Amino acid sequence: MTEETKFSVLCSLFNWMLRSKSAAKKRSKFRKFLDNFCKPSDYFSSIRLILPSLDRERGSYGLKESVLATSLIDALCMSRDSEDARRLINWRKGGAKTGANAGNFALVAAEVLQRRQGMSSGGLTINELNELLDRLASSESRAEKTTVLSTLIKKTNAQEMKSIIMIILKDLKLGISEKSIFHEFHPDAEDLFNVTCDLKLVCEKLSNRSQRHKRQDIEVGKAVRPQLAMRVGNATVAWKKLHGKEVLIECKFDGDRIQIHKNGTEVHYFSRNFLDHSEYGHAMSEVIIQNVMADRCILDGEMLVWDTSLSRFAEFGSNQEIAKAARDGLDSDRQLCYIAFDILYVGDTSVIHQSLKERHELLRTIVKPIKGRLEILVPNCGLNTHHSFGDPCWSLIANNVDDIERFFKETIENREEGIILKDLGSKWEPGDRSGKWLKLKPEYIRAGSDLDVLIIGGYYGSGRHGGEVAQFLVGLAERPAPNTYPRRVGTGLSDEELEAVVTKLKPHFRKYDYPKKAPPSFYHVTNHSKERPDVWIDSPEKSIILSITSDIRTISSEVFAAPYSLRFPRIDRVRYDKPWHECLDVQSFIELVHSSNGT
Ligand code: ATP
Repeated sequence: MTEETKFSVLCSLFNWMLRSKSAAKKRSKFRKFLDNFCKPSDYFSSIRLILPSLDRERGSYGLKESVLATSLIDALCMSRDSEDARRLINWRKGGAKTGANAGNFALVAAEVLQRRQGMSSGGLTINELNELLDRLASSESRAEKTTVLSTLIKKTNAQEMKSIIMIILKDLKLGISEKSIFHEFHPDAEDLFNVTCDLKLVCEKLSNRSQRHKRQDIEVGKAVRPQLAMRVGNATVAWKKLHGKEVLIECKFDGDRIQIHKNGTEVHYFSRNFLDHSEYGHAMSEVIIQNVMADRCILDGEMLVWDTSLSRFAEFGSNQEIAKAARDGLDSDRQLCYIAFDILYVGDTSVIHQSLKERHELLRTIVKPIKGRLEILVPNCGLNTHHSFGDPCWSLIANNVDDIERFFKETIENREEGIILKDLGSKWEPGDRSGKWLKLKPEYIRAGSDLDVLIIGGYYGSGRHGGEVAQFLVGLAERPAPNTYPRRVGTGLSDEELEAVVTKLKPHFRKYDYPKKAPPSFYHVTNHSKERPDVWIDSPEKSIILSITSDIRTISSEVFAAPYSLRFPRIDRVRYDKPWHECLDVQSFIELVHSSNGT
């Protein structure tokens, strides 16, 4: 094996793996490749192509399917109007007439390439391919990227190019887990990767399978694979799973999972995929350097945006924009806020083997919280005591399953994503998702199945919304009769949106004097309904449709007339564009619930 490893050999391995049904067979093909076709000095060059999503040596390609489609069209000198070009652009719909391969960009591209590339391999070596991929990642313009793609097309056949496209999209769909690849490569590979997130180091250090590697601890400056949460269906299952443990419930914040590595005045922000998000530095590093009282330390937590004018966390999605605004010195009511919920390293030692309770003590002593900038999530401390009375509770020690139910309900009503349950006696384990942390989230009906419901009544709010309607009772149509079935919906609209809807509907609000007066007869409400809105809409044809999402685990309704009631409904959009009679009807709603529940 003196020659350089050819990419065609790796492609044959991919094909073998795809064809083998069992994991054991796939693993043995991989072993054969390592032993017979790949020099140890080429291990990293090859394995980074097999596990492209774990490779951090190369930057991002900036090529998602749509950009890749236009770049390939140009690289193949095709007209944008040609049938094949349209196939690439509309890859979600699939190739040819049959719609085969719909949604799989690489397969649609392979169909197109087959008509344009020869059968024979151009003899590209693995090292050449890596150099070209480096160029692809470092080139800034799309024209440069197109040039690299056309070089690749010249040096490959359609089969090889398809694999390259899959590498660029970082998913080879080989049907073998990364865990199996690691185990076959070396018994210590997964452990070493989990604590270093460094594929090159793993391939170089562990090139001799028979030599065991001494367990390595985590280090400041090297991303650690984050501990993750296992999903559970409900509070009872969660409580059972954590039987006998001291259980902590925390809000599941919807931001960016970030590990902060502080080494003196050097601060790194590693994401869940171990990318270093240096853009957070401008806004956060001073705060970290001054308020984290350890020279060297690793914090685990979530990066969010705190809205100072509304005194609440902003919804997911504005982290990058706020980081940029801070970099450019722009004034804003919004600021980045890091919530540390764990600590992994202090001074010169890893603390992941200590219990969560002990790590909380360390967090308390090491991090000086600053409201809305740097918070710690520890029971009776930091975030839980910073905010004013009446603010949400962010974490709690659970004594029973009811505590979990209540916390979950309150958290969802507060528009958070869900909750995380943690065993306070557990250590922090890199890359673990075995159930030390559990997550409970509502399962929202997915987009594409909008629930368009009609506002039929309203409830007065309190506090900020005192004296005005702040929650709605909504109904479905019963076709052909106009009766409707109600469900109360409250959250999801901004104050301005709510005000606009209420102003529009105000002329149609009618107060009702219970129990003397029954609701309007065109609303079908069961006799034992306990739900009594403060006002009813006196003419449904003047009302407004709301698009809502809801938990699919609907519950049979005793309170309302509809056969099911929705849990955690939230308003997505106000549909001023839809006339009232286009709201969902009861039958379609039942079908939707059944298909979502798989019944
Ligand atoms: P999802 O897609 O549901 O957000 P995920 O696959 O990103 O889940 P999970 O392991 O299921 O990740 O959930 C853990 C994630 O939840 C963490 O990566 C972190 O970003 C986020 N998170 C928010 N709040 C907490 C918290 N209090 N403790 C731990 N993780 C939290």
